[in-house]
Amino acid sequence: MTHHQGTTMPAGDDSVLVGIDIGGTKIAVLVCDDERRVLRRGEVAAPAAEGGRAMADAAAALVRTLTDGFTVRAVGVGAAGVIDHDTGTIRAASATFTDWVGFPLATELAQRLGCAVTVENDVNAFLLGEAEDQESDVLGVMLGTGVGGALIMRGELRRGPHGAAGEIGHTPGYSDLVCTCGQTGHLETLASGTSIARRYEQRAGRSVGGSREVADLADAGDADAKAVFRDAGRALALACSSAATLLDVSQAVIGGGVSHAWHLLQPGIDDALRTDAPITGIPLQIRPATHGADAVALGAIASARTLALAPVA
Ligand SMILES: [Zn+2]
Repeated sequence: MTHHQGTTMPAGDDSVLVGIDIGGTKIAVLVCDDERRVLRRGEVAAPAAEGGRAMADAAAALVRTLTDGFTVRAVGVGAAGVIDHDTGTIRAASATFTDWVGFPLATELAQRLGCAVTVENDVNAFLLGEAEDQESDVLGVMLGTGVGGALIMRGELRRGPHGAAGEIGHTPGYSDLVCTCGQTGHLETLASGTSIARRYEQRAGRSVGGSREVADLADAGDADAKAVFRDAGRALALACSSAATLLDVSQAVIGGGVSHAWHLLQPGIDDALRTDAPITGIPLQIRPATHGADAVALGAIASARTLALAPVA
């Protein structure tokens, strides 16, 4: 992340920055001014099964509607998958997406919208949205359908040489359960929303609609539901502790749908931080995200702002 405090924007009053959050089920758009005040917002269903072009068409149509009457200075995208940040092309993605790998998302959106577009992995964007101007060294973890991770060190997002840094959800050693990726024991087998529902079903012997329903059951006193969230919280904190030990990062911010049940994750987090705190002795703080569903689009806007300030070639 690059800071540009104090820089004067060469733009009129009607110019805006746009952040797009592209996921497997929905596309959400925020239109913001230079102070990150949200002027307009909207969302549509993501046509993920119809391919990259359909996704770009849907996103561009929503942006055009929401920015009517404004001048769009730059667009930032947070998208699911491994992203080649330099070209804005998708390098790898889950099976939810048809014809997404290899799709030049930045180029396609720039053609449709007539302005510069930058594309960031959605978990990276989430962390930019949550950490901007607050923390220079922080780990981000999103507990959603899957589990994703991201890292900011010295104020800079660390993408790794292949754009794949931070994939903490698929690190092993947390269970003996089969992961969505086909391997065994990954963090995601305990801490994703999907896994929380599966683990509850296995313990309680009855099916549930999703992790939100498990959270409601836990709040109503269901011991199995509480245990499943406790296990998720413990696994999450162990992963954060490993990362903190490796990287000397003492802050972790947790987002995604599962993080809304923070009070249910907290007992397992506290437990793990008691038994498995980083041996450096530096306290590890694990906290819930504060921007909710807006974090990815806000982080995408932070990227777009950097793009808008770049010298014109
Ligand atoms: Zn996995």
